[in-house]
Parts: sequence; C-alpha cells; structure tokens
Amino acid sequence: MNAIEVPTGNGHSFSENVDRLVDKAMAVLNIDPALAQTIKACQSVLQIRFPVKIHGEVEIFTGWRAIHSEHMLPSKGGIRFATFVNQDEVEALAALMTYKCALADVPFGGAKGGLVIDPTKYEEDDLRKIVSHFTRHMAAKGFIHPATNVPAPDMGAGPREMAWMADAYRHLFPEDINSQACVTGKPVDQGGIEGRTEATGRGVQYALQEFFRHTDDVRKAGLREGGLSQQQIVIQGLGNVGYHAAKFLTEDDRATLVAIVERDGALVNTEGIDVEKVHKHMQVSGGVHGYPDATYVENSAHVLEMDCDILILAAMENQITTGNAERIRARLIVEGANGPITFDAETMLKKQGTVILPDLYINAGGVVVSYFEWTKNLAHMRFGKMGRRFMQARADSAIEILEQAMGDRFPETIKQGVIKEADELNLVRSGLEDTMCEAYQEIRAIWHARDDVPDLRTAAYILAIDRVGHYYTEYAL
Ligand code: NAD
Repeated sequence: MNAIEVPTGNGHSFSENVDRLVDKAMAVLNIDPALAQTIKACQSVLQIRFPVKIHGEVEIFTGWRAIHSEHMLPSKGGIRFATFVNQDEVEALAALMTYKCALADVPFGGAKGGLVIDPTKYEEDDLRKIVSHFTRHMAAKGFIHPATNVPAPDMGAGPREMAWMADAYRHLFPEDINSQACVTGKPVDQGGIEGRTEATGRGVQYALQEFFRHTDDVRKAGLREGGLSQQQIVIQGLGNVGYHAAKFLTEDDRATLVAIVERDGALVNTEGIDVEKVHKHMQVSGGVHGYPDATYVENSAHVLEMDCDILILAAMENQITTGNAERIRARLIVEGANGPITFDAETMLKKQGTVILPDLYINAGGVVVSYFEWTKNLAHMRFGKMGRRFMQARADSAIEILEQAMGDRFPETIKQGVIKEADELNLVRSGLEDTMCEAYQEIRAIWHARDDVPDLRTAAYILAIDRVGHYYTEYAL
C-alpha cells in the first residue's frame, strides 16, 4: 500500500468508528443519553493555515489541534506529521486520548494535533521553521500551554520536534516558569525524561507480560501456554512503537518475530528475525527491501494474514477491515497503533475467537510516561534526585546488619538487587509497569464478571467512560 493512502474504515470515518465502539460500551452501561452526548462531543477544534517561506518560495501549511475533553487539565495528546492528516482523524485520535487517559488513570483530558506534511521532504532548518510557526499559531490561540494543552510526538515526529516546539513556546512566553511542560517527549537534556522515547513499546511489553500471567485469558485466546517465549509474532510497522515493542519482546521475553510488515514490503523468516539488524538496515536504506536474512515479500498485505500467535499492528488506522478480517489467523491481536481495526472487522474477528488487546489500553505507555515527564517539569527536579543517596545508604546499613546477624555475607547478585539505584529510568519503568498491570487487571475483571461484556475493548471503554462520566455528573452537568 502507498504510504500516503489511508484505507477507509468500511464506509465509516475514523471518528465514526471510535464513536461506534464507545456506543457499544455505553449501551452496556445504559448511560443517560445527554451524558453520552456530552462525553462523546469534541469540545473544540482549531484549524490553522500558515505561510512559511522556504528557499524564497512561500508554502502554505495546514494543521489542526483538537480538544476532545477538558474535564481534567491539561488536555493531552500527540501531534502527527503526515501527508494524510485530516480533521476527522485528529478528532478521532483526540477522543481516543480522553478514554486512554481515563483508563490509565492519568489526570488529563484528551487532545490531538496534526500537520499536513511529509517531514522527509524538508531539510532540518526548514522543518524547524515550519514547526516553530505551527507552534506560534497554536500558542496565539491558546492551543498549547503547560496548564491546558500539552502536545507530544506521534507519527512523523519525535524528541527533536518536541524540543523545537518547547523552544518556540519559551521564546513567546519567557516569563512562564513552567514553559518546559508545554510539550512532552522532549530530549532528556532538554527537559525530557529517561524512558519516554521507548515508553509506548515498553508499555506493549508490560501489557503482554501481564496478559500471559493470566492462564485463563491465554487459553481463551487459544494460545500456547509457556509464556511469551513460546509465541510467534508478526508485526506491522517498525517505527517508534513497533521497533521498541518488537525489540523488547524478542530480546527480553525471547518471543520469535517471524515477520515484519512495512510500507515497502514485508520480511518473513520463521526461524526468527533480528529486530536490531532490520532497524539498522531501515535507517540506511529507508525500507526493509534488500535486508539479507529474511525472505522479502513485495505484497506485504498478505503477510498480515500469515499463521502466527500474536499480530502486533503498530503502523496506522484501518489496517484490518471487512476486506481482510476473515483471513487473519493470529489468535491475539495487539493494537499498538490507534484504530487499526474497524468496528465491522472486529465483529468478524470476534466470531473467529480472536482476542484483541485494544489501543486505548495497549498503547497507553506513551501518555503514562508523558505524565511523569510533565510532573517532573513542574517540579523542576529530576526524579530520585533528593532520595537516591539516602535510600542507598539505608539499604547498605540494612544489609550490613543482616550480614552481622547471619555471620555470613549476602550473595553479590541479591545484594546488588537490594541496593539498586532508584534512578529516573528505574522509577519510570516501575511506574509504567505498575500502570499497565493494574489497568489490565481492572479491564479483565469487568470482562470476566459480566456476560454482557463481550471483549476486552468494551470492558476498557466501560472503565474509561465510567470515570469520565463520573466527573461530568459530579462537577459539570
Ligand atoms: P512512526 O512513524 O514512528 O512509525 C510508523 C511505522 O509504520 C513506520 O515505520 C512506517 O514506515 C510504518 N507504516 C506506515 N504505514 C504503513 C503501512 N500501511 N503498512 C506497513 N507499515 C506502515 O509512528 P509511531 O509513533 O510508531 O506510531 C505508530 C502508531 O502508534 C500510530 O497509530 C500512532 O498514533 C500510535 N501511537 C504512537 C505512540 C507514540 O508514542 N509514538 C503512542 C501511542 C500510539
């Protein structure tokens, strides 16, 4: 498929698909219609058209920032840089952010942004100019602010772009002591946090580890027992989310990656693919074509239908539709991307007994760690800075007392585990793992407790809608 084409969602727009999923959960909750409308409505959308002079020529760019909900502030959500970005997509993604934050119990409303651009077509200085202009226009309308509206990276953007946005904002409002908190996903040396770049992929790993701790869920999906090391994985999209998820699952959990589906084709090797090697190859050549240690398949769409245990969709929306759902053979589908399965396709997959770990849960790792970054920026202090030495000294004393009482020395490996530093990365991972595990336990409890909850997605929406609805009924309506 061409990179700039987004397949349609079986006659429904992306935001209609999200609303249909929400309606399904609202029907189970038997929610008041006025409250349902309030929750679903996108509160405001800013469309910006702005000129930028590039090499003497003026180009007009179009971007959006949508705020789906402000029941908690700031509203939070990434900014996507892609040629196919449109208002409906931005609104759909903003709505997903509302439910995702509520589900992960992160105190943010939902927002999203998008800029119509192919970032690969511009030199770095020009791209910086475009991003700075976009930021200035959003700031002028109050659509970027540390207290009310905080972007993060999404497709086509990364730490570099976030640093540019933070810089543009700081130049506009130098008196704002919290200006660093106006975006998350920044480089660590510019107010970012350790572990943010890989957070979404790491979250996918923690979520899958938690799923495999529940043997009845593993059986329900018809998966091999014995944990992740027994699973064969196919992944679509080896970008930020896909690369990190695939790397951690193969390196730490010893799962076998049998295929990678990318824009320019797919790689297949049932013996296992080395993610790091493919990633390096892609950085040099721009795609998977030419990678030596796997079979290259030009028509990559068919590789999604290959027999495997877990299919991780980490590219973009509308990848499994009624056109291919029946041919998908994976027993567990993991929605690393937002909205990769349409509403109607999901109905077909359910008939086949496929279990889906839904986007609003599985890819929440990014916003969870963004929350840590935002609070770190507001605190103006690195996590663990004050307590690290103190904790280490306490652990050393405790070990010394135990060794004296035992008359023997602690094995070195155990000792190292006890005195392990509470540094920023360890704290971020611990907070992320805790959030992903707890959210899964809450979702599965609803899934198993109620006969009228057919799947994990409906359970996840029930939990999220209940939390958002509670706020509106208590404080807003
Ligand atoms: P990215 O741009 O880093 O990576 C996307 C990858 O998918 C690229 O390698 C691209 O070549 C590939 N791709 C695009 N279209 C494809 C297609 N049709 N078939 C096969 N491969 C294709 O983007 P990302 O940040 O990894 O985001 C991917 C998805 O995850 C998006 O839906 C995004 O909204 C979602 N997401 C991202 C984050 C994050 O922290 N980056 C957080 C939550 C959700």
